[in-house]
Amino acid sequence: MKKIYLYNLLLLLFFNACDSEPEKVEGVPNQDPEFEVFKDYFINELWKISPQQAVYAGYYDYAAELPAPSDSLREAQIAFANRMLDSLHQYDPASLSPDNSINYKMIENELESQRWYITTYQGWKWNPATYNVAGVFDRIIKSDFAPLAQKLEIVFEKMEHVPQYYAQARENIDRPSVPHTRLAIDQIRGGTYIFENVILDSLNAAGISGEQQKEMLATINETVESINAFANYLELEVLPELNGENSRNFRLGENLYEEKFKYDIVSTYTAKEIYEKARAHKDSLHREMTRISQRLWSKYFPGQAQPLGLQVVHHMLDTLSSQHSHRDSFMQDIEKQIPRLAEFVREKDLLYLDPSKPLTVRETPMYMRGIAGASISAPGPYDKDKETFYNVSPLNSPQYTTASAESFLREYNDYILQILNIHEAIPGHYAQLVYSNENPDMIRSILGNGATIEGWAVYGERMMLEAGYGKNAAEMWLMYYKWNLRTTCNTILDYSVHVLNMTEEQALNLLMNEAFQEEAEARGKWRRVQLSQVQLTSYFTGYMDIVKLRQDYQEKMGEEYSLKNFNETFLKYGSAPVKYIREAMLGERE
Ligand code: ZN
Ligand code: ZN
Repeated sequence: MKKIYLYNLLLLLFFNACDSEPEKVEGVPNQDPEFEVFKDYFINELWKISPQQAVYAGYYDYAAELPAPSDSLREAQIAFANRMLDSLHQYDPASLSPDNSINYKMIENELESQRWYITTYQGWKWNPATYNVAGVFDRIIKSDFAPLAQKLEIVFEKMEHVPQYYAQARENIDRPSVPHTRLAIDQIRGGTYIFENVILDSLNAAGISGEQQKEMLATINETVESINAFANYLELEVLPELNGENSRNFRLGENLYEEKFKYDIVSTYTAKEIYEKARAHKDSLHREMTRISQRLWSKYFPGQAQPLGLQVVHHMLDTLSSQHSHRDSFMQDIEKQIPRLAEFVREKDLLYLDPSKPLTVRETPMYMRGIAGASISAPGPYDKDKETFYNVSPLNSPQYTTASAESFLREYNDYILQILNIHEAIPGHYAQLVYSNENPDMIRSILGNGATIEGWAVYGERMMLEAGYGKNAAEMWLMYYKWNLRTTCNTILDYSVHVLNMTEEQALNLLMNEAFQEEAEARGKWRRVQLSQVQLTSYFTGYMDIVKLRQDYQEKMGEEYSLKNFNETFLKYGSAPVKYIREAMLGERE
């Protein structure tokens, strides 16, 4: 974590209004009046029992609470899930409006999932990294829901609970996994920065002094001490004792993996089916990439002999990667592309883009750096009208050496950069978000599905190229396939590591030799796959589910089918799981 530092280089981009606005999905609050009341009740009870989750959704009424993660808290959470499921089951989803029928299923999945995480997955025992409170404090201080003095009041009340929280966390740890314990030590220590710097700076900014300041400084010290005590306990007492028998394997194993996949992704496929699809997809990508590279060879290497196997692809990718932006103009190059993408979407009539919603391209704020090259910062469910930011790593800042900037620029070369912008902005995440925010339903945004969101962005890449974006250049397709191969291999990797015991060596071989990744990226991925499960498959799975739905929808609609109609109809359902959108769009309601 680093200090917040907002750059002033903000540029607003607006989209021109050329085509007509389609009908919006209107909320139907009066269609199921009782169910609407239940939904509101569910949301409020959810925030009460999960105050931290509430803060991340932008709801602060319970922000000062920090319940200790005790048995009685877990019992209360299970009782909450059971009670809510009982109330939910009073309704018949078939008699609800199509929108509420989707909400019904989303609530049901959420509650069953919460129960499963506590009773079966039990990360609270074996993953010490779940006990990191810094992020939620950071979120409270940095959001603008209240004046600083009021936020400080909340933060200091919350801090009073931290020692008790960590005393309980220590009790909970039982045979943790080694990589998760290491991660916890790093992250939890790193988080003290929020208290010693961010909160301390806020005290000064609020002009707090004298006796009150003294008291508050003492609270900060006590908080930091209890956090460090937990990290020290993990490092000095827990970690040295962990070996094969008394530590948990970070690999999830088939049963837990399939169940987690079912709750997190909500696909029409099983994890195993998706794994098999990914393997077949990888083979077909390799065939296509080889074919294109062989065809392009004489254009780039006239008179030279072609290497065998995938080496020809390696060489072509390497050569094409040298066409890239300059580090000083990287962000400007992205800004210039956004209106072009919007123009292409309009010209090809792929979907309507609301011209009144600006997308601001900015340098990634300091406190978010070190994660990705580019990302979208979306407003939360409680402030949908706030601005959306496209964060871009500032390559001309001193934190990038000449070599690291060059390596980044080669990776995000002229071809990949366009695909990245399609994915992050138009028609990917940003466009999806605009549609999603048009849907007035809170359940849809609070319980939004990651596989739908990522799957849409991955689908958008394919859709743009199919519509002729990039003029069907062989080079563009080759690079697109490389990009798509990453998503595909992430899925293969995740399943192979957690279910099929893939070794580190095999993982690096897959990523470097079959997905054409640099060693640094491959090693980073190996680290990530040990720490997370299922998430890496969400991109490919969402994509597969959307492609299948489009095919079946086209069949159902016959003559009336149009791509624009499919895209808009799909997006209006918001970030519900594709499986549920599918049931609504195809009329396959249970
Ligand atoms: Zn270069
Ligand atoms: Zn994405």
